[in-house]
Amino acid sequence: MKSTVSSSYKTIKTDILVIGAGGAGLRAAIEVKKRGADVYLLGKEVLGCAHTGMAMGGMNAAMVAPATGEFHARITIEGGYNISNYKLCRIFGEEMPARIYDLEDYGVIYDRLDSGDFYVWAGPKQKYPLNVCVGDYTGREMMQGLVDQARKLGIKYTDEFFISKLLKDKEKVCGAIGINLKTDEFVVFQAKAVILATGGAGRMYEVTTNAASNTGDGYAMALGAGAKLIDMEMVQFHPTGMAQTPSSRGVLVTEKTRAHGGLLKNKKGERFMSKYYPKEMELAKRDEVSRAIYLEVAAGNGVDGNCVYLEVNHWPKEKILEVIPDVYEQYKNVGVDISKEPMKIYPSMHHMMGGVKIDEWGRSNHVDQLCPGEVAGGVHGANRLGGNSIAEGQVFGRRAGIGAIRYSKTVKSTHLDEKEIRNEIKRVNSFLIRKTGIEPQKIEKALKKTMWDNVGIFKDEKSMLQAKNKVEKLMKDAGKMKTRTVITERNRDLQDCLEICNMLETAQAVIEAGLIRKESRGAHSRTDYPKMLPEWEKNIAVSKEKGRIVTSLLEVER
Ligand SMILES: Cc1cc2nc3c(=O)[nH]c(=O)nc-3n(C[C@H](O)[C@H](O)[C@H](O)COP(=O)(O)OP(=O)(O)OC[C@H]3O[C@@H](n4cnc5c(N)ncnc54)[C@H](O)[C@@H]3O)c2cc1C
Repeated sequence: MKSTVSSSYKTIKTDILVIGAGGAGLRAAIEVKKRGADVYLLGKEVLGCAHTGMAMGGMNAAMVAPATGEFHARITIEGGYNISNYKLCRIFGEEMPARIYDLEDYGVIYDRLDSGDFYVWAGPKQKYPLNVCVGDYTGREMMQGLVDQARKLGIKYTDEFFISKLLKDKEKVCGAIGINLKTDEFVVFQAKAVILATGGAGRMYEVTTNAASNTGDGYAMALGAGAKLIDMEMVQFHPTGMAQTPSSRGVLVTEKTRAHGGLLKNKKGERFMSKYYPKEMELAKRDEVSRAIYLEVAAGNGVDGNCVYLEVNHWPKEKILEVIPDVYEQYKNVGVDISKEPMKIYPSMHHMMGGVKIDEWGRSNHVDQLCPGEVAGGVHGANRLGGNSIAEGQVFGRRAGIGAIRYSKTVKSTHLDEKEIRNEIKRVNSFLIRKTGIEPQKIEKALKKTMWDNVGIFKDEKSMLQAKNKVEKLMKDAGKMKTRTVITERNRDLQDCLEICNMLETAQAVIEAGLIRKESRGAHSRTDYPKMLPEWEKNIAVSKEKGRIVTSLLEVER
């Protein structure tokens, strides 16, 4: 039986610790290693299997004229309803083409035209197409290239490792402690700089496109270490999650489907987008299409009362197999041939626009802690454009690597606080030691339902206050969680306990920020404040002081 309770730990020293081996973490580690510095990379899963591998449609970059980096930056800001960090967006637009070529050097083979030019397609707001892709499995190919490069460079990596806390030397982050999920061994990583690239938090919602690893660990750990999070109220619901069978509920159908002529229809066969966004139709922004689907179903026009159709059965089959081969397979697996029948779809929680507030080198307000990728906030504002996330991880992953090297050079020595380590070991072990208590799965289920029902596509003061009270109660219950005693290969229950604590912290940040923003903007749609108001063109920051969430308003950095 696994999961022995132990209070010993080993220490590993490294100059730079990268927590998270998705697109952003891998790119950061590659940059650090390439520049000759010492780096150690960790992830909760087997190397190469991170969430980024699920990315489908593509990544935005101004590769084909007349698109330019300036255009890419501008539509990112406009698409984000003007609360993005303008400087970050400009850097993003300008540097992205070079990152596409880096990936090509690592072995990624993009879709190209017979002429040799990049094949690019246009998502919402893209007057000039920006989406560079590999079929509808861009993330998989990207991960393959990044992992190959990491292996080639000999980057040290531990599979299936769970970091549970960032450690501090007075005010500075000096490493992290966690548990090897295969051996149950506690390990302390002592580092001069820590790159936190832990991805998003979709798993706190009942219906999500996200991988199991997206449990908001990074937001919770960064908050605990004193970092500021911004835009946490901005939670993106992708309009087209599968709604065919209970087991496939929420699985993504890429935006590439609508961008290539997929049609949304209600149960009467009407293209209902004409009622909501007659100009943009299916290619309105994600928040807009999600709201339209929600309202259409609420008005009684839904298919089976709970979803709508997405049709590509008017396309030649060859086009389906060429443009969206993975979507074709996804539906085939649940018995639907999309070349003959429509797909049933409904919005699914997809992306956290908010996250750790960073500067242009991915640095949080603690410069010793760098945060690229979905864990960061600032680029996407109130709505992320499709294709901007895996791209962002490449630009700011590389920059975080450079920022970490620069910072680590200023650090002569670090000092671990033994008491902090002991307390964390005690906290983790408490879930194993407890003889009676609450099963983690019960808390997780309640959290997911609360977030889906009360902090979803539409929300209001009442629903968010209900969620706040429920999350507070669940937080108390979480202190009584216990793992089951019959454990096989790996203690999944222990990981659940740790992740649930992180999801609850993240949910709390989302709700607190949501209650503050008294308007509707992008993904934040309040029925009690339905208008977007100029005085709210601001960012809401969330931090933690003496264990309590504190919010403040920040001017948008232009
Ligand atoms: C189905 C789907 C399709 C998508 N398609 C696209 C697309 O086409 N284009 C696009 O731009 N975006 C897309 N996205 C969004 C995009 O995939 C993600 O936002 C992006 O991959 C995030 O990358 P990341 O490196 O920040 O995080 P991730 O890839 O999520 O990696 C996070 C890493 O952190 C590790 N980690 C987390 N917590 C801990 C911990 N406590 N201890 C140790 N390690 C930890 C994880 O194990 C993982 O290795 C899609 C998302 C989904 C769900």
